Formats: sequence, structure tokens, C-alpha cells
Amino acid sequence: MATKKDLNHIHMCVDRILTGKQKIKAMQLAIGENQKNQPNIRRLPGVSNHPMKMALEAGKMWADGRLLKICFLDGSKIQKSRVIEHASQWLKYANIKFDFAAAKAKSDIRISFVADTGSWSYVGTDSLGIPKNEPTMNFGWLKDDTDAKEYNRVVVHEFGHALGCIHEHQNPKGGIKWNEAAVYKYFAGAPNFWSKEETFSNVIQKYSLNQLNASTYDEKSIMLYAFPGELIVGGKPTLMNNSLSRRDRSFIKKMYSS
Ligand SMILES: [Zn+2]
Repeated sequence: MATKKDLNHIHMCVDRILTGKQKIKAMQLAIGENQKNQPNIRRLPGVSNHPMKMALEAGKMWADGRLLKICFLDGSKIQKSRVIEHASQWLKYANIKFDFAAAKAKSDIRISFVADTGSWSYVGTDSLGIPKNEPTMNFGWLKDDTDAKEYNRVVVHEFGHALGCIHEHQNPKGGIKWNEAAVYKYFAGAPNFWSKEETFSNVIQKYSLNQLNASTYDEKSIMLYAFPGELIVGGKPTLMNNSLSRRDRSFIKKMYSS
């Protein structure tokens, strides 16, 4: 169970969000990648076909069976080999392949350890629209000597984003009911210092159902953070998850099933 002290030690991962024209470009790239990313307009009664709106509703999944070309922009030999080891867990379940020796100019995913002090990734095919000299994933606090449990938790989580998974606490099919006043207060403080808008988009906001192929809320998901009970109606904290859950495995298998 997570205590407040634990959460202060957990660095929150922040989704990389595209804005404006980036979103439209990302939608076109997503549909070029995988026809299943086509927004399902029939499910959106009353919604116009305005490209901005469609971008919000397009999927972000890679083509089934895709060889993802991955490039390290920096990092030590040890950091790189540890990332490769943990990331590869997804490959047991998803019909996807990783090439970690790709050239930068041809890469789909670019990893840095020094872009900033956070850990984050773009979600799924959103990485396709990012300039080739910029990282699409960062591991700001994973060093040569960071313990194995933390490597596993962070690397598997960020590669979950890279494969198109969202944060479990933002699952459109629900799950957590926030004590919103406490959430805003909590994240306004150290170590996050988030504005109300940042807390809303990183924690409270749920994703659109049309945007994603979400499974039902999974309290054991690697995509869920440990939140203290004081932030949640009913007071029950979420679990500290360090590895792929049974439902994480079946979900990714369904998404990339050959
Ligand atoms: Zn995350």
C-alpha cells in the first residue's frame, strides 16, 4: 500500500501531449500506420468532421507485427542494456518487434536519459510526428546503479505508452473516484508543483472512449500509479505495481494479435 511518503518518492510520469497542427499531422500519420486508427465517426453523433476534433478521436496503435526502430540518443552501455532487457517483456505478448540499433534518421522511437529529470513517453504513433533529433522517451532518473525493481517499473511503464497504452487512472471506463480538492492541493506541492490545469490533465481527466481501446479498469496495471488513500473517495490507496499484470498482458496481446 502506498503512503504519502511513498508517493513523494515516486516520480510521476507525464504524458507528452501534442497541440494544434501537431495533432492533425499525428492523426494522418496514425491512419497511415494502421487503418484501425481511423476515427469511428458513426460513434460520435453530432460531432462534425472538423480535423481538430477527429485528431482527438483517432487511435494511436502501430501496425500489427511492426518492427519498431529504436535509437538511443545518449546513455551509458549499462543504461541501454538495462532498458532493452526490461522493455523486451512486452514482446512476449504483443506481436511487435524492437530494433534497438536503428539509425536516428530512420527511427520511430528515440530514447534519452538526459532530456530532463523526468520520465515520459509519447503515446503510440504520436512519436512518428516528432522531429528525428528529438527524444520521444526519456528516463531522467534511471542511472547505472538504480535498482532492478525501479528499472522494471519505469521502463515497462514508458514502453507501455510507446505501444499506445494510457495511464490507468485516466481509463475512460472509470475506476478511481477522486477527492478532487485533495488532488489539486496535493499536486500543487512538492515534488510536482503542478498548476490546476496540469493536475487536471495529468490526473483527473479521463480519456475519450473513442480515442482508445481501453480495457476495464485494472488496479494491478503497470500503467497505474500508487496514489495515497487521502486523494480517493473512500480512502483506499491504489497499489504499487512494479510489473505487467495479467490484464496488461491480455490487453496488449489483443491490440497486437498478428
Ligand atoms: Zn506514464
